[in-house]
Amino acid sequence: MRILVAGGAGYIGSCTTEYLLDRGHEICVFDALLNGHRQAIDDRAQFVFGNLEDYSAIDKTIKDFKPEGVIHFAAFIEVGESMKLPGKYFRNNVANAMNLAEACATNGVRKIVFSSTAATYGMPKNIPIREDEPTIPINAYGESKLMFEKILVWYEKIHGLQYTALRYFNAAGATEKHGEDHNPETHLIPLVLQAAEGKRPHISVFGTDYDTPDGTCIRDYIHVLDLAQAHLLALENQTSGAYNLGTGNGHSVKSIIDTVKSVTGKNFKVEYADRRPGDPARLIADSTAAKTILGWKPKYDDINAIVESAWKWRLKFPNGYQN
Ligand code: UDP
Repeated sequence: MRILVAGGAGYIGSCTTEYLLDRGHEICVFDALLNGHRQAIDDRAQFVFGNLEDYSAIDKTIKDFKPEGVIHFAAFIEVGESMKLPGKYFRNNVANAMNLAEACATNGVRKIVFSSTAATYGMPKNIPIREDEPTIPINAYGESKLMFEKILVWYEKIHGLQYTALRYFNAAGATEKHGEDHNPETHLIPLVLQAAEGKRPHISVFGTDYDTPDGTCIRDYIHVLDLAQAHLLALENQTSGAYNLGTGNGHSVKSIIDTVKSVTGKNFKVEYADRRPGDPARLIADSTAAKTILGWKPKYDDINAIVESAWKWRLKFPNGYQN
């Protein structure tokens, strides 16, 4: 397949690009390198430096490359920042994304696969979460993703552009070549690994009084290659819909810290801090729909293996992509 990957220089985008290239697909990465890294773009992919705010740039790229499918990763992802700068999130994650949908519809692209998020659910009542759980985001980031999911429903109805929204739970882990390198880093596993490397004086645990067995938040960490697999299945699937992607296993912040200590063999300081605003106590996916409808078969359900892959990548690239 010829696949356009918007945001292919970011964490999940670069790992998915590698996965697709390994399976013989032809890839064009479209990325403005705002948060992504030039070094994260696989040599085997074509690269167009461009921003989705520029309709003519994405329209020309689609006209030239003629993709059969498009994957859209090019969005801002920080919950905390979205609560300070909502306009930044709605402009990029909704308005600029619409340029991509419009260019797909105009140029007869059959399918768009969209990186959505568990943050679309807000504070879910039922755990594990199914796709029919009410979507009531509690931050501007989650709302911006949900808004674009809804826009895609109308592009399908009106223009026949099929879509799959993949609601990721907590993406984690790395491939041999590509891993997580955000600046600033806000995600738990890379931060704990940095503490293990001695690059941070300590790791802070945000909240110890949640209604969970050890009082810390529980999340469902899913390996980035399992996410990559779901994107290919979604491109091959000829229907539209939204799917959760998670392992169905929950891990507390404290247990992740213990896992990192055991995988790395390093000890480091742990500090107990206040809750971070907007954090639900538990987010665990029910991914039955992705398995039965898309045929998704996640391979990594062991948190040790997920953390180990991220640690190996850090050992190989101690300064991330800045080497
Ligand atoms: N977390 C933490 N300390 C940190 C970063 C994150 O205790 O330095 C917690 C955070 O409050 C949440 C969990 O780890 O409960 C996962 O956070 P992350 O930002 O990785 O992903 P999110 O679930 O927010 O998408």
